[in-house]
Formats: sequence, C-alpha cells, structure tokens
Amino acid sequence: MRFKSVKGMQDILPEAEPYWRQVTATVQDTARRFGFEQISTPVLESTALFSRGVGEDTDIVSKEMYTFTDRAREGEQGESLTLRPEFTAGVMRAYIEHGMSSLPQPQKLYSVGPLFRREKPQKGRYRQLHQFNAEIIGSADPVADFEILLLSYSIYMELGLKNLRFQINSTGDPDCKPKYVAALKEYLAPYADKLAPTDRDRLQRNPLRVLDSKERETLPYLENAPHIIDYLNDDCRNHFHELLGYLDAAGIAYSINHRLVRGLDYYTKTVFELWGEGLGAQAALCGGGRYDGLVELLGGSPTPGVGFATGLERIIMSMQDAGIQPATLERPDYFIAYHGEAAKREAVKLITTLRMAGVGARVAFGGRSLKAQLKDADRMRCRYVLIIGEDELAGHTVALRDLSKSEQSSLPMDQVVNALKQRGHMAECEKRVD
Ligand code: AMP
Repeated sequence: MRFKSVKGMQDILPEAEPYWRQVTATVQDTARRFGFEQISTPVLESTALFSRGVGEDTDIVSKEMYTFTDRAREGEQGESLTLRPEFTAGVMRAYIEHGMSSLPQPQKLYSVGPLFRREKPQKGRYRQLHQFNAEIIGSADPVADFEILLLSYSIYMELGLKNLRFQINSTGDPDCKPKYVAALKEYLAPYADKLAPTDRDRLQRNPLRVLDSKERETLPYLENAPHIIDYLNDDCRNHFHELLGYLDAAGIAYSINHRLVRGLDYYTKTVFELWGEGLGAQAALCGGGRYDGLVELLGGSPTPGVGFATGLERIIMSMQDAGIQPATLERPDYFIAYHGEAAKREAVKLITTLRMAGVGARVAFGGRSLKAQLKDADRMRCRYVLIIGEDELAGHTVALRDLSKSEQSSLPMDQVVNALKQRGHMAECEKRVD
C-alpha cells in the first residue's frame, strides 16, 4: 500500500524553500516595520468559536470545516473541535482571554501559519493553505483601515509584485446594513426563480452573498442591483470617504466594487480585496475588512477592529507567474571526505568542531571510496573538499581541494577552523542545472 497526501493538501518540497523563506520573511519584516507584533494561537479551537465568530451561514462554517469530537472523559461529552479555517476568530479569542484590552490600544497583531478549509481543490485553492494575517484591534479610526491596506500593498511591492488594484466597498453597520439587505431582497425577489440554485438558497439565508455570486445564471440580475454605498448612514459614509481620501493621497489605485461583500459575516464598514494579474478566477491575493462587532460577539466588551489575510501560496504563484526569482539560499560549501576507519573518526571530530564554530559543512556517509565521496561532494555542489587520508592522519593535516580548479593544498588540522572562517564558508545556492 502506498500512501498519498490527503486531497487538496500539498507537500512543500525543498525546491520551493527559497520562495517560502522570502515570503515569510517579507511579511513578518514588513509587519514589524509597521509596528505589528506576532501572536500565535493554536491550530485547534472550539468549534463554537468559528460558528459564532465567522457565522453559521458562511460557506466556511456550513461546509468547509474539519471538525471532530474530541475523546471524552468518562461521564462527559467530548468537546467539538475544529482545525482553524481562518485566523481572526482565534486572535480575538486570545485578545479577550488574555485581557489585552488593558494594554495600550490599538493592539497591532499578526500571525502566520496553516489553515484548513474543505474547499473544492483547484489551482490556487487548497484544503491546507497558509496565510499571513494582520489585525488592528481597538481603533475605529479610518487610518487603521488605511494602515491595513497599506501593509498588504507594501508586502506585495516589497516582493516585486506589480499591477495590483484594490477592490473596495463598505458593508455598513448594524444600523444601515439591514436596510440595504431589505432593498436587495426586494430587488431580487422577482428574479428568484431564475437565479442559480445556490443563490436562491443564499437569497433566503444570507442575501448579501448573492452579490458576489460567480454563477452564470445569476450574473445578469446583479447588474442593476442597488448599491450598498447609497444606503450607508452618515458615520459609515464618512468612514468610507475618509479612507478613500487617504488612498487618493497616497496614490494607491483602487476601484469601488459594489458587489464585493466578502464571505464572512463579521464584516462592518470597510471590505476590500487586492487583485493581481494572472491568477484567473483566483485573482484575490488578499482580503479583509473591518469587524467592529466581533469582539463583543465573542464575549468581550465592544471593541472595533480591522484586518486582512493573504494566502502565501497565492503570493508564491504570483511571483512565479511574474518571473520573480526569490533570493538564493546559502548552503554548505565544504565537504569532508576520508579514507579508512581511523580517518572517519577524525572526520567526525572535525565536522563537530566546524559546526560548533558555525562553519557550514557536510560529511560523507557510508564507507564509499574516496573517489565516490568526491563525486558526492560535486553532486551536492560543495566547492571544497577536506580530505583526511592516511598521510593526513599521520601528519595531523587535512588536504583542502578546490573542485572548481582541481587545486589542492594542505592545512594543519588545528588551523582548519580558523582558516575556513576567514575564507567564508557558505556558498549561495545557484539554481541547480542537472
Ligand atoms: P479569506 O480568508 O477567505 O478572506 O482569504 C484571504 C486570502 O487567503 C485569499 O485572498 C487567498 O489569497 C487566500 N486563500 C483563501 N482560501 C484559500 C485556499 N483555499 N487556498 C489557497 N489560498 C486561499
């Protein structure tokens, strides 16, 4: 029996490491420059946190969660647990649980890690995905929304991604949103039978979601749908225009997208996505918005918040599509080869000393001939081989061979570490051409 990875879940192989390093370092360094600090919450949370915080009627909660009942203690019922499908609910839970509202506000927090959604796998859509997520908790100021948009924008610019445009909308607040929902329902009611079946269902359960439908049957009826920004109350309208003013001032491109509502229930006021070129239907590099009611919904005191999340796989795909090469990674440039058992013991001693001194090196494995070891060194693209043979053993020396020039010199064993430290001991990984 041969095992395969679970459907929709991918292995990230060593060849992808340069991309992952670059992307994870860039998101974290940029966030720190903006004054964000990292918070890491558990991958498992109580199921109720998501059904409450994300919303029962959302696709994520109603069909995409990996949920199981934990083993129960005798006489008790097992707790229902879920692999986190998004970060925000867990971060809010931690904010409340650790009394972070008594710290200076707003709290600017970021997280990076895996999430799990049982979606239909396709290009750019996986069941285990990785996100970078950032939140500003405790400020209702549109400048906080702007900071979140600017952070996402800065990350992609830093990575060399261009041709990006924000899609932006406001979903109002509990005062004005219901008025719009009623107007939308009234507008769509005469066409209900003609909508795609999923949208007919959404029209009953979560009418706003019909707006971002991708179903061909539904699209014609959305063209003349009322716009939510025409229903905003003064507070929400002012908030929206202030944010747009900041984007204009910063010269950041955006389009007001009347059909953008985002899939999660908790959004209030601002919602946005950043679209890149070349990702087809999966064009959204990131998405986010404001969620002023969420902390209260999860049992905390009323606290505004705004955040966004970006998929790391999507960023990497965009970099690859745009031909952006990640920085090369270092690899050990030295390889220790030996001849005979006594020399092998010396080699082990030498590799230990080198590693303790922070010098990057590999040592030969297996009792292969010296010739085979040199071949291995070349295959592993180590430029220098430190050879311990019988002569070296007797003379307490090491032969240093430069494979690129076929030159060889001799070093006293007790001077090897210093000599290598002076030469620089790690090479940049070149792209492997086999
Ligand atoms: P969301 O958490 O749904 O708002 O999505 C935020 C971002 O995460 C998206 O713009 C994508 O970049 C990424 N994303 C969401 N779902 C997936 C998925 N199933 N696979 C890969 N990336 C995803």
